[in-house]
Amino acid sequence: MTAVLDTLREALGTECVRTGADIPRKNFGDASGARMRAPLALVFPRSTEEVSRCLEICHAHGQRIVTQGGMTGLAGGANPQESEVALSLERLVGVEEIDHDSATLTALASTPLAVIQSAAEEAGFLCGIDLGARGTCTIGGNVATWQQMRTAIRSCVMG
Ligand SMILES: Cc1cc2nc3c(=O)[nH]c(=O)nc-3n(C[C@H](O)[C@H](O)[C@H](O)COP(=O)(O)OP(=O)(O)OC[C@H]3O[C@@H](n4cnc5c(N)ncnc54)[C@H](O)[C@@H]3O)c2cc1C
Repeated sequence: MTAVLDTLREALGTECVRTGADIPRKNFGDASGARMRAPLALVFPRSTEEVSRCLEICHAHGQRIVTQGGMTGLAGGANPQESEVALSLERLVGVEEIDHDSATLTALASTPLAVIQSAAEEAGFLCGIDLGARGTCTIGGNVATWQQMRTAIRSCVMG
């Protein structure tokens, strides 16, 4: 197990791979109240390229991972097992593009839903998705947990 962590540290830098007491409790479990556990390690990639590299390394070592967004899920899907690496996407935040012609918005995975809603509104659109956890849940988590959101995201309508 240390081999995979050493390789992750070499690839991403030590500041992007936390273990033991350096892992915040918020990464132990989501809003479901299901059993919370510390993962083997917590990894914070800074780009999609680093996400790919992290997945490549974990795959090569047979290392299980669990992806974490805003941790507002109510089904324990983001909760780590002790032997898993938690892949936190919290550094991947930001709206990259709004295309008026196709009425689409492109954003990084951990952009909070509320940020997406505001960006859409400022551009003259209405984002057709809303839920109580809007300030904390992420667009990546939304897509992962709610298939219907994919349709809604594509069909943002002119406000
Ligand atoms: C107050 C409140 C109100 C809520 N209202 C609703 C509601 O109306 N409708 C509803 O459906 N849910 C609701 N939820 C549940 C939750 O907010 C949603 O399921 C939300 O979409 C989860 O997003 P998240 O970023 O917090 O995901 P997380 O909880 O971090 O993860 C949820 C799942 O998605 C996976 N995941 C996260 N990010 C990614 C990614 N980038 N790529 C691949 N997989 C990923 C995780 O591995 C996990 O399996 C509510 C929760 C709260 C606390």
